[in-house]
Amino acid sequence: MPLVSQAGSLCHWFHRLEAYGTVSADADLFFSAGLAYAVRGPRLRPSPAPRPPKTLRSTPMQPFDFQLRPRIVFGEGVVERLGQLARQHDARRVLMVSDEGVVSAGHFDAGRRALEAAGVEVHAFHDFGENPTTDMVQAGVAVARRVQPDLLVGLGGGSSMDCCKGINFVYSCGGSMHDYRGVGKATADMLPMIAVPTTAGTGSEAQSFALISDAETQVKMACGDPRAACSVALLDPVLTLTQPPKVTALTGIDALSHAVETYVTKPRNPMSLTFSRRAFTLLSEGFPKVLDNPDDLEARSQMQLGACLAGLAIETSMLGAAHAVANPLTARFDITHGQAVGVMLPHVVRFNGSRHAQWYAQLMSDHDPSVPAEEAPDRLAKLLTHFLSLAGLEDSLAKLAVTADAIDQLSADAAGQWTGTFNPIVLDEGNIAELYRAALSDVAQPRQPS
Ligand SMILES: [Zn+2]
Repeated sequence: MPLVSQAGSLCHWFHRLEAYGTVSADADLFFSAGLAYAVRGPRLRPSPAPRPPKTLRSTPMQPFDFQLRPRIVFGEGVVERLGQLARQHDARRVLMVSDEGVVSAGHFDAGRRALEAAGVEVHAFHDFGENPTTDMVQAGVAVARRVQPDLLVGLGGGSSMDCCKGINFVYSCGGSMHDYRGVGKATADMLPMIAVPTTAGTGSEAQSFALISDAETQVKMACGDPRAACSVALLDPVLTLTQPPKVTALTGIDALSHAVETYVTKPRNPMSLTFSRRAFTLLSEGFPKVLDNPDDLEARSQMQLGACLAGLAIETSMLGAAHAVANPLTARFDITHGQAVGVMLPHVVRFNGSRHAQWYAQLMSDHDPSVPAEEAPDRLAKLLTHFLSLAGLEDSLAKLAVTADAIDQLSADAAGQWTGTFNPIVLDEGNIAELYRAALSDVAQPRQPS
């Protein structure tokens, strides 16, 4: 069948689906089915259109405005293509933003060699740490003003990529980092940026957001603009082999939390659901394997791609309660992001699952298709607690030295978190305090999944 005619049939097929009024939370299945149909042509004429199964008709279809921004290049050894990709953006002088750990692991040199082999002049900025601050960004901007780069490379974990994006905001648009808090505050086009993640965690390479902490208050500011999105995400799973076990654990739990949180947000939509669900399947398969055998490159690949897909989901569906309640734990108790989100997420799943059990059943269906909807939130919460245990992370706030008298302050902080506004159940200080209390006592939280 000619392509145009196939496209016409596909439109017809989707219009028939639209005629049902609701499509579904599992619209990804329809996209896959529709795509396969377009590629291979109909085996039978699609009339009458198949009736969607009941479970797929439970949620009204959400509108979305989606553009895949980074070009994603994935594969073993693709870091060697960094120079070629930079040249495709007409780069002659590059500022590479990489933290010291990445330098020690030899990845910075691998990136630099690839750039220099392509005739690109390389300058470096390393003077920042975990949770980059406004001051660290400003120091990077000073280097950029001296170097005058025509392309930025953020090579490292989430802190390297976020710091690089932060530098891009201020270098390209002027002012200070505070001017870009929120969404769409960029005032000019920004330099092209290539992100090269060396951890499988934040998915920053797939998002237009930089998380930068206020240097004085330590409050994390989300600064996002479509113009801050990376031009290229270069995913080389070999670079993730050198992560220390603790980093593998913390970043892996964070990536899993992104897949879980994005699946139930208010702005969830057919695109985000597709990314979240595939991400969860890859991550839940890969995570126990990389903990057991850190040199398992196939599992590392699952983790890296899963983290990137979860990042794409965040870009269009945002996050939710687990991140809203985790951020004050990081700000006030200096609990690492992955640990803070990980300890809270099982409680958030039970909380959101009180109204949206079916969604969690759908999310888990590739991992375990036998989970009945009514059991899904508890089963998922137990699975996540099991992952914490495998990863050697704490499963209660008490074990992290958080005490009951801190809950009021933490709850007030969390209630003001922007990310909490996307949670499917409206958050207030009362229900947030209950989440903290549940995580503090960790009552009846079995460690093994049933
Ligand atoms: Zn996170």
